[in-house]
Amino acid sequence: MALPDSILIVGGGVFGLSTALSLSERHPTKQITLLEASPTIPNPHGSSVDTSRIIRADYANPAYAALAASAIRKWRATEWGQDGRYTENGLVLVYSDGNRDAEKYTRDSYENVRRLEGDEKVVYLPNKAAVEKSVPRYIAGMNVAGGYLNRGSGWGDAEAGVRYARQMLEEKGRNVTIKHGEVERLIFADGNGERRITGVSLKSSKGTPTIITVDLVILATGAWTPNLIDLRGIAQATGQVLAYIKITDEEQEQLADMPTILSFATGMFIIPPRNNELKIARHAYGYWNPKTVTLPQRKGRETMVVSVPENGVPIPPEGENACRQALREMLPAFANRPFTRTRVCWYTDTPRGDFLISYHPEYSNLFLATGGSGHGYKFFPILGDKIVDALEGKLDPELRQLWQWPEAQHSLTPVVTKDGSRSGAMGLNLMDELAKSRVESPKL
Ligand SMILES: Cc1cc2nc3c(=O)[nH]c(=O)nc-3n(C[C@H](O)[C@H](O)[C@H](O)COP(=O)(O)OP(=O)(O)OC[C@H]3O[C@@H](n4cnc5c(N)ncnc54)[C@H](O)[C@@H]3O)c2cc1C
Repeated sequence: MALPDSILIVGGGVFGLSTALSLSERHPTKQITLLEASPTIPNPHGSSVDTSRIIRADYANPAYAALAASAIRKWRATEWGQDGRYTENGLVLVYSDGNRDAEKYTRDSYENVRRLEGDEKVVYLPNKAAVEKSVPRYIAGMNVAGGYLNRGSGWGDAEAGVRYARQMLEEKGRNVTIKHGEVERLIFADGNGERRITGVSLKSSKGTPTIITVDLVILATGAWTPNLIDLRGIAQATGQVLAYIKITDEEQEQLADMPTILSFATGMFIIPPRNNELKIARHAYGYWNPKTVTLPQRKGRETMVVSVPENGVPIPPEGENACRQALREMLPAFANRPFTRTRVCWYTDTPRGDFLISYHPEYSNLFLATGGSGHGYKFFPILGDKIVDALEGKLDPELRQLWQWPEAQHSLTPVVTKDGSRSGAMGLNLMDELAKSRVESPKL
């Protein structure tokens, strides 16, 4: 499929930057603009930016396992993984007694990754004693029935990765212009039996909005995408908790080479610290944050309720308790250490945890590259090529099937990601949970 001359990519995270890098390499004569709402790339509030992200081929779905393995080859052997952007420290996945879904995910993932990495690197841990022997420091108080260790997994410095991609784009993307500005709305046009986007209108403080006219719009706007196009039942912002503690030089040295641990019992995970900062986080169903917004595709004042990211809020007490409890179980020495900062970070969740990389079914020149569902970072070095394959209509059938626009009708209920890897309670409302802290704090 031939691509038009002018292409606008909205969003400067993993999905947008990787698309821009690949498009500029494969289509050096096109006029490409990358537009980011934040004044900086890396955007400190973007999902792609953090101290660390797990880089693993440990997936129950063999298609993601194989894709992640090809990304890991790039993290290991190319500039992508240099200068501390990739560290191969191993990953331990554990499940608890009676959690059948988690046990199945772990076993399927083990089989997939063992085929990819081999028996030397991937070791099944059939019971608590075996897990304890493998990672004695971590599991003192944990409810663990078994799991496995994959020495071939690692983690990435996610802020450094985004900075590196932007630098590469500035150096090599001669046909790419990076601009800063926030798209307020897409400009829809119906005519000659075809629905199209003619451009985007940017938010302006001066009253007159700036319009960018363009042939093709690629929305790589992560958890903010449902504000721009109706994605009810297809993709949704869900908030996930992160907490950080300061550790001493000695503690940093002790923990630096530990494998990452992810407990499917609770969704809690700990990635080894860097620069004397230890992060604890939860991979869960997450919080939803419903707001009423104008329905983008309709003229007039029709509205819809969608979950939107909220930046700069503390984590609710429910999330803080989960982090404390996990520290008590995994690293009890740190259980009472104060959190120096916390963050609610936003996944763009889809019902099965699959990305959404597809043309819009109604607007022929609107393409979506989003739906990261809490696992997109690791694919950074190869994702752009897959997105451009999809733009050109050449994506491998297996991935096309996973990432295409869903055929099912929109459901107006919140998206709950059922990919077998999530934990925690379903249906938590961020503002309700935060309000609990306001009511409860005077009693303390
Ligand atoms: C807490 C957490 C932990 C995670 N852990 C892992 C992990 O361990 N391993 C892994 O592989 N993945 C992980 N992920 C997932 C991964 O980080 C994401 O899938 C990926 O970074 C998403 O990239 P993105 O480009 O879609 O989103 P973003 O990085 O959020 O980028 C979207 C950009 O679009 C911009 N934007 C939005 N709206 C507009 C607008 N209207 N106009 C202009 N610009 C706009 C935003 O400012 C933003 O910078 C995690 C994610 C989170 C939140």
